[in-house]
Amino acid sequence: MLIDNHNRVIDYLRLSVTDRCNLRCNYCMPAEGINFVKKDKLFTLEELFTLSKIMVGQGVNKIRITGGEPFVRKDLMVLLRNLTTLKGLNDISITTNATLIGPHIDELKQLGIKNINVSLDAISKESFERITRRNEFETVYNNLLRLITEGFNVRVNFIVLDGQNTEDILPILELMKNYDIGVRFLEEMPFNGGSKTFNTINWTYENILNHIKSKYSEIELLPSPKTSTSVNYKIKGHKSTFGLIPSFSRTFCGTCNRLRISATGDVVTCLYAKPSTNLRDILRGENAEQNVIAYVLKAIGSKAKTGFEAQKLHSSSVFDSSMTSIGG
Ligand code: SAM
Ligand code: SF4
Repeated sequence: MLIDNHNRVIDYLRLSVTDRCNLRCNYCMPAEGINFVKKDKLFTLEELFTLSKIMVGQGVNKIRITGGEPFVRKDLMVLLRNLTTLKGLNDISITTNATLIGPHIDELKQLGIKNINVSLDAISKESFERITRRNEFETVYNNLLRLITEGFNVRVNFIVLDGQNTEDILPILELMKNYDIGVRFLEEMPFNGGSKTFNTINWTYENILNHIKSKYSEIELLPSPKTSTSVNYKIKGHKSTFGLIPSFSRTFCGTCNRLRISATGDVVTCLYAKPSTNLRDILRGENAEQNVIAYVLKAIGSKAKTGFEAQKLHSSSVFDSSMTSIGG
């Protein structure tokens, strides 16, 4: 079992499969000039499976596949098929922009991969294009509806962006109210590849909640798992739920159960921390399993207690990173 230096069990791995993406969301990366790493610096899908197997052997029971955009890896389904064979891995989840998932929906269903988070920060073609810098709204929206009707456990991730999409907060709740899904509003974090820096945000989770309460007076707080990063609610009469994720305010660190491994092998113990080690060459070297375990244990053995402490441990340069290279 993986236990960090604050006695927290680490059983949830967020595994990034690529740093590449077919969108250019302005809160995640700059429009141009992104230094994607060379292909040989990315794990192969076989290596990603080996790594997953090692981590599951250490007690990880949930893996979220993320990126970059996971589905830009053409053979992603091979990895997913292999992951479903791992005993002890109870939950395989995916975070995706839903542009490329369409042809894979049937197989995902057959494989029993049910938990899909779809990033959607706008409900009109125009604002979607402004934010993502690409013309993919219809594809994303249609795939989202297909995932819902096919019975996936869908959560929509909506990053609240000051001056860009706050007018869509209430309409997206209306749009989704008849579906059995969760809409989660996330605070914007300053991981955008250096295109914008900020130390405070206007749209904190409290302000988002107050905004929602200005329209809906009957809101019920729902029970959530201890390790959940979202505080979840239900509006009276809505089938859907909504959640608030204080990703910038960081009120959830005390129960953190997660570890990230980037597509290039960086071990990221906290989004606000610098990577503590890199596993790529270790996995490609001798005694891979033993060494990977030793390095992971070392990394989680010096995990900062909170995102604020992680941030204090180094200069502000962590904010030069992009979520697409960290692995969101
Ligand atoms: N491409 C996939 C997607 O967009 O869902 C997966 C990778 S993306 C980096 C993972 C999540 O991080 C998405 O929900 C995205 O909206 C979120 N994200 C990216 N940049 C962010 C930022 N600066 N602040 C908060 N969330 C961010
Ligand atoms: Fe791509 Fe996801 Fe980043 Fe948008 S948030 S640019 S879809 S990786």
